[in-house]
Amino acid sequence: MRIDVDLYSDTVTEPTRAMREFMCFAPVGDEQKQEDPSVNRLQETVADLLGKEAALFLPSATMANQIALKCHTEPGDEVIVDAGSHVVHFEVGGPAFHSGVMLRPLEGARGFFTAAQVQAAIRPPDFVHMPRTRAVWVENTHNQAGGTIWPREQLAAVAALARARGLALHMDGARLLNAAVAAGAPPAAFTEHVDTVTLCLSKGLGCPVGAVLAGPAALLDRARRYKHLFGGAMRQAGILAAAGLYALNHHVDRLADDHARARRLAQGLAGVPGVRIDPAAVETNIVFFACDDGLDPAALVAGCLAAGVRFSLPGQQIRAVTHLGIDDAAIDRAVAVVAEVAARR
Ligand SMILES: *Cc1c(COP(=O)(O)O)cnc(C)c1O
Repeated sequence: MRIDVDLYSDTVTEPTRAMREFMCFAPVGDEQKQEDPSVNRLQETVADLLGKEAALFLPSATMANQIALKCHTEPGDEVIVDAGSHVVHFEVGGPAFHSGVMLRPLEGARGFFTAAQVQAAIRPPDFVHMPRTRAVWVENTHNQAGGTIWPREQLAAVAALARARGLALHMDGARLLNAAVAAGAPPAAFTEHVDTVTLCLSKGLGCPVGAVLAGPAALLDRARRYKHLFGGAMRQAGILAAAGLYALNHHVDRLADDHARARRLAQGLAGVPGVRIDPAAVETNIVFFACDDGLDPAALVAGCLAAGVRFSLPGQQIRAVTHLGIDDAAIDRAVAVVAEVAARR
């Protein structure tokens, strides 16, 4: 089946010709021995960008998150997290498998909980029957909530509480740069509040592979051991890290185009009978929409796919994600196809 407009996810992005050319001649070495100049340069670049002491190149954001969790906890500990987080639903039970930790899901609003909610969830440290609360986990942008951006004052309040209570604070910033570009703020405006942060290179940044974990140098030394232990230590990985360097130079500002197209899509869909959407809720590159009774979302997704337009249906709502493979014409085609398929009911 031919897919002309792939709004399934920003993971469908393929390296551009210019990115491939840049990767092709990247200087490389043995990254396990920390001798790969491209990997080293990427790690320094990301550490600087996020205002952290050190950073570690990893094969995926899932591994970055799982290693962060491993560094921050001991088995039996509890981690406070929003109930809709990626780490809760889409990391294969990794927190239980790799770290033996409990997750304490909070019902956040649009993916974001308050300091008061965290305060109420912290276990009394000297009550022997309970797990020990050890870390707080935030996701920015929040994927399942629709690419929403953490309100910075609320984040600062959560961070202040975590610090006061001796809890580690990790940010799953797989799409942190979407948040920064949309907020018109440097990424460090979000990461100054957290101990560690995961950045994914293979989403909207358009790299074929990769993620980076950034944080304090001593913690990252331990993270490097876990990288090896988890089987994530590579050899001449500079050829992959080069894609990240290229993306950080060429694919960050353009995320604003993805956000504009997500709004254009939402506004177009708002005019389609049977579709329910609030265009004002779209903050970055993720658009969720629902169907009125009588229009089956699964049938709508299947009908669109048959017409070459791919969406995902992760739950009750249909999801569309814009990325560097989507132009204005693709958005207009997607809206037209949704209208056509919805009209058949
Ligand atoms: C995609 C995603 C990840 C995992 O990224 P991979 O590089 O595919 O492992 C983690 N967190 C969030 C919020 C994501 O959207």
